[in-house]
Amino acid sequence: MISTESTTSSVSDLRESECLDCGGSIEQRKHEGGFWLPRICVTCDATVIERFKLQETERARGAFLRRLSCSGMPVDFFDGARGLDAFAWTPEQASVRDALRRFGANELGKPFVMIEGPAGVGKTTLCRCAMTEWARKGHNVREIPAPDLGLIIRDSYKRDSDLSEREIIEDLRRVPLLLIDDFGAERATTFVTNALFAVIDGRYRRKAPTLITTNCSVRELADRLVESSGDQLVAERLIDRLIESSHLVRLNGKSHRLRLAKQAQRWRVPPVETAAP
Ligand SMILES: [Zn+2]
Repeated sequence: MISTESTTSSVSDLRESECLDCGGSIEQRKHEGGFWLPRICVTCDATVIERFKLQETERARGAFLRRLSCSGMPVDFFDGARGLDAFAWTPEQASVRDALRRFGANELGKPFVMIEGPAGVGKTTLCRCAMTEWARKGHNVREIPAPDLGLIIRDSYKRDSDLSEREIIEDLRRVPLLLIDDFGAERATTFVTNALFAVIDGRYRRKAPTLITTNCSVRELADRLVESSGDQLVAERLIDRLIESSHLVRLNGKSHRLRLAKQAQRWRVPPVETAAP
């Protein structure tokens, strides 16, 4: 091991020693400041690097799984930890998948993706796969079924609740990627609409990446919200923000995307008839 090319170091700069790890024999050289290096043999050095890499991989995987376990996704889904490549998508699903990829690469030019389509066509699954990819890249992700929002907030009023209503809303406003699942299926009371508005408005202002799935068309969503919220102004502003911020895609239908975009452009919330006092 003693270098025969070295002409600057004298023989006294070299010594036999023991590897700190395995105790095997090593050749050490004295460096500036009086340090004798290396302290471990070549074999152990390689093992240490491998061990370190493995620990890093395990640490990253642990953090990734923690992100998924806090995401609100069902356990059986995040256990698979599947990304957008994991399924054999139909051509139509594949076009949504491609939109979600462009969304992930920040290429859509809009912070929201709204996927419209009937139940059971894979809207939520596609979104969860996208969320899994975001989590793998180190982002926190959250899924909230719109029909559960009212209940979740009401639960926060209980004395033993860990989170206040404000904290729940704030978390949904701030999480790096949010999925609002089944929007339009909630019982649209003023209470729920206001909560949804607080979340969507907060994300709209920050242009925060948001996925929305719905069985309703934008028009139906608007009608529902205006009718049942009892607050036309809030409902109107909610829909305006959604249309302005969303890349709209239709799953399971012919070329509905254009129709949706046109519908969105033309959309005006109709005035609500108010009864005379
Ligand atoms: Zn060793």
